[in-house]
Amino acid sequence: MKKLFSLFLTLALAQLGVAAQQQVQKPTNDKMVPEMTEVWEPEVRIVQPGVRDSDPPSDAIILFDGSNINREWEDAGGNTTKWLIQNGALVCVKGSGIIKTKRKFGSCQLHIEWRSPSEVQGESQGRGNSGVYLQELYEIQVLDSYNNRTYRHGQAGSLYKQHAPLVNASKKPGEWQSYDIVYTAPIFGSDSATYLMPPRITVFHNGTLIQNNVSLRGPTVYVGIPEYFVKKHGAGSIILQDHGNPVAYRNIWIREL
Ligand code: MG
Repeated sequence: MKKLFSLFLTLALAQLGVAAQQQVQKPTNDKMVPEMTEVWEPEVRIVQPGVRDSDPPSDAIILFDGSNINREWEDAGGNTTKWLIQNGALVCVKGSGIIKTKRKFGSCQLHIEWRSPSEVQGESQGRGNSGVYLQELYEIQVLDSYNNRTYRHGQAGSLYKQHAPLVNASKKPGEWQSYDIVYTAPIFGSDSATYLMPPRITVFHNGTLIQNNVSLRGPTVYVGIPEYFVKKHGAGSIILQDHGNPVAYRNIWIREL
C-alpha cells in the first residue's frame, strides 16, 4: 500500500513538473515585453543599391554591361559567339545559335533588358522571338507581344507552354523592356526523375508582376508534356535563345540566392 502511494506521489509530481515546464515554454503574451521577440543577430548584410532600380546593386554579378561579350558568355559549343555588340546592345545573329553564361547558377535574382526589332516582321511566334533560360532548361519567353496574338502561354513573359503571364505589359517594338526574375531552383528526391520541390518563378515585366511564384511541371518543351522530361540536375548556365530574330539585350545582372 505504501509502495502504491509512493508511486502515485511520484507520478503526480512528474505531472506537475511537466505542467510547470509547459508554463515556461508557452508564456502568455500579457507576461511578455517587446524585447523578448526581438532578434538582433546575425545582422542583415548590407548591400549598396543602384541609383536607378535597373542598376545592379553592389553584390550583383554583371553578365553584360554593353562591352565585352566574351568575358561571361560563349556559344553552345563553348566557343566565341557570333552575336554582335551594336551601340552597347548584345544582338542575336540568326543562325549563330544560343549563347550561354560561362558561370552556372541555381536560385537567383536576374535583371535583363531586351528589345524586339522596331521593324515589325512576321507574326505570332515568328515576331521578335528569343528567350531567357534558367538552369539551361526553363524558358521565360521573349517575344514582340505588342498587337501580336499567339497562344497565351507562348507570349512575352510566359513560362513557355506552362504559364501565361498575368497581364500583357509589353511595350512597342523597338522600345527597351525589362524582366526582373526571382528563381528558386528545384530540389530532387532520391528518385532522379521527380521534383521534391519543383522550380518556382516570379517575374516582373517592365515593373509589373506577371508571374507570381508559379511552379513548373518540368523543363520547357516545344512538343510534349513537360513532366515527362524531368531529370535530376544541378546549377546551369543562363541561356539566351536564337530563334532567328535580331532581338537585342542589355544591362544583364544576376544575384545568387
Ligand atoms: Mg522563345
